[in-house]
Amino acid sequence: MTSIWLNTHRPPAHPPLTPGRRFDVVVVGGGLTGLVTALLLAEQGVAAAVVEARRLGSVTTGNTTGKVSLLQGTRASAIAHRHSERVLREYTDANRAGQHWLVAYCAEHEIPVQREAAYTYAQTESGLSAVRAELAATRKAGLETEFVTDLDVPFPQYGAVRLENQVQLDAIDVIDALAADLDARGVPIFEGTRVQSMHSRDGDDHVLRTEHGEVAARTVVLATGTPILDRGGFFARLNPQRSYAAAFAVQRPPRGMYLSADSPVRSLRYCPSEHGDLLLVGGSGHGVGRTNDAHAHADDVVAWTQRWFPDAEPVYRWSAQDYRPSGELPYAGPILPGHDRILVATGYAKWGLANAVAAAHTLVGRIVGKPSPWQSVFDTWNPRELAALPTAVRDNGEVALRFSKGWLSALAAPIARRVTGAQADTAPAEGSGRLERRGLRPCAVSTVDGQTRRLSAVCPHLGGIVAWNDAESSWDCPLHGSRFAPDGTVLEGPATTALAPAAGD
Ligand SMILES: Cc1cc2nc3c(=O)[nH]c(=O)nc-3n(C[C@H](O)[C@H](O)[C@H](O)COP(=O)(O)OP(=O)(O)OC[C@H]3O[C@@H](n4cnc5c(N)ncnc54)[C@H](O)[C@@H]3O)c2cc1C
Repeated sequence: MTSIWLNTHRPPAHPPLTPGRRFDVVVVGGGLTGLVTALLLAEQGVAAAVVEARRLGSVTTGNTTGKVSLLQGTRASAIAHRHSERVLREYTDANRAGQHWLVAYCAEHEIPVQREAAYTYAQTESGLSAVRAELAATRKAGLETEFVTDLDVPFPQYGAVRLENQVQLDAIDVIDALAADLDARGVPIFEGTRVQSMHSRDGDDHVLRTEHGEVAARTVVLATGTPILDRGGFFARLNPQRSYAAAFAVQRPPRGMYLSADSPVRSLRYCPSEHGDLLLVGGSGHGVGRTNDAHAHADDVVAWTQRWFPDAEPVYRWSAQDYRPSGELPYAGPILPGHDRILVATGYAKWGLANAVAAAHTLVGRIVGKPSPWQSVFDTWNPRELAALPTAVRDNGEVALRFSKGWLSALAAPIARRVTGAQADTAPAEGSGRLERRGLRPCAVSTVDGQTRRLSAVCPHLGGIVAWNDAESSWDCPLHGSRFAPDGTVLEGPATTALAPAAGD
């Protein structure tokens, strides 16, 4: 499952970390947040480096739908429900500034963007109330939105909020341009280097331990999607949501960017490609690791599209996750109150393109002592977080339930037999995985590409029991969204170490 954006010729990867170096700032994570942060630091003359576990842009940024819009589904009404009009306006202003920066950067680097109207539409009559609430909230936020009913689309809709002149792009074009920019400025980028832990040296520098040795920094920015260090407990304030996307060859993809206000979520846009304009459709999401049939979610996107665009043929299919904050506002600030030398940025709720840029400006403003105007709206430790407590408690209640359910079903799993050549009939079928038990130890057993592997089923982050994702052949943790390849390697999420080999193997 590779996205349309990542299915392209890319510049060669940067080499892994050469250990023993020191920087003023180490930015951990080479998605949009991390690379924009590094560029802004370089512009301020700060000696920075980027450390990326995989390839630049390969996680959420490379799997986005690429809309850079100020009309963001039902975000404005969700924020208005929780926060004051002032906060809503500040959020919108931050996104407007992020959008402007991104568009200017694309213009400067000859990266194509398309200007289109954005729509939040009702798929059902009952979805109209959410559309009207979004109209009211976006107007309060200072956006010139309008209510329309004349959408030129073949699927059912009962009316929409419309905002003219928004932007769509290919985020990997932006990532590759940022990387080239950083190379030209001599900012080191280390790829294939996962940060595993961090400690302080003599109460002064932070030392990051990676699989390729150590690197020291006065300040660390965790631009890792969800923060990888548990200090600050951000995992408990974020709800990891996975969704599915596909790009289809169709006769006439509609112009405009669409997102349904009601469920199941449908997100549409066209994307220029070597095959002509393709139709991108996304949606059918669920909590990470919280479905028994990820395949069905992925197929649902295709079935829905082929119902309303009967000639649609999928060319690319992929899926990705992002983190919804319980307080509805993104975070960009210190990991703990007063700890301005470990900063985090997260919680974009699938609207991370403009937000990542705004977050990067906020972090860099803190580092160089020039606070950005929206520092307060992205604050990580604002008293208004208390208002989010009921949602955080509900989300964590669900996490606790998933924790117990995972362990109970793991302990009820059949006792493992050895899966070797002579007993290969006991191996899971190709492309599938299951839980087994060795005494009281739960094992995750899968067969992919003819290879059967047994691992501990216990997530190294906080001890959840992983679940098999049959759409992507991965082990996904239902607690905080860590994901692992069939050989146990970390793919994404807050975990920093692999699933252990199964005991006895
Ligand atoms: C299906 C989907 C559709 C979306 N569509 C849109 C859209 O249309 N518009 C929009 O604005 N937003 C959209 N988003 C959201 C947006 O894509 C993301 O919020 C944004 O890309 C996040 O960027 P990031 O840099 O914070 O994270 P990422 O791109 O995930 O980058 C984080 C990086 O950190 C690295 N990393 C993690 N742990 C470590 C470690 N221990 N050591 C070193 N490196 C590490 C990862 O490998 C990764 O490369 C969408 C999200 C999803 C899931």
